[in-house]
Amino acid sequence: MSTTFQPLTKRSQVVSDKKMTLLERIYLPAILKGMSITLKHFLTPRKATVKYPEQERPRSAVYRGHHVLKRDEQGRERCTACGLCAVACPAEAITMVAAERRKGEENLYREEKYAAVYEINMLRCIYCGDCEDACPKEAIFLTDRIVEADYLRKPFVFGKNELVEPMEKSKRIDVSKRQTPEVLKFKEQRQYSHNR
Ligand code: SF4
Ligand code: SF4
Repeated sequence: MSTTFQPLTKRSQVVSDKKMTLLERIYLPAILKGMSITLKHFLTPRKATVKYPEQERPRSAVYRGHHVLKRDEQGRERCTACGLCAVACPAEAITMVAAERRKGEENLYREEKYAAVYEINMLRCIYCGDCEDACPKEAIFLTDRIVEADYLRKPFVFGKNELVEPMEKSKRIDVSKRQTPEVLKFKEQRQYSHNR
């Protein structure tokens, strides 16, 4: 029994088997057309490179770069090592080791559990922002900071030293740029669905 093929979209095209002309077969017009485009770009050069890191290209306000693990107002680490960011990460770039907060450490960690080890492999990371979206504690954010290049792979495994923001309030990492009304609305809706 034959089945009639029904296209799901209107993107498909009928392929033509029209015979090529002599000019088409020797590719000369196509080569000349390509060369003219190359020549046009050669004669009207645009500045394609900048002297990074002295110069930087302007980046979008919602650029997603180097993550930060935030502290709360009192300087305590917000992360409770719940692991939701690691589960949400499509690149499996996040690993952590949870620990129990001990007596006397209340000024360091906001809740009873914290991440003794928290690592992101920046070579695996695709900067999708899913970890930020998944975090129920507003602990991890992507920022507009660039992850600098290196010759080795090892420095790209960022630990708490690279991720947790400084204790001093004047040196805290500003994450407000990416918190646009749309992003905040999304987070509010997500929080609502978690609480249901
Ligand atoms: S930005 Fe995306 S890929 Fe990178 S660590 Fe977060 S969830 Fe994983
Ligand atoms: S960053 Fe957020 S989601 Fe990830 S372990 Fe810490 S509290 Fe949980």
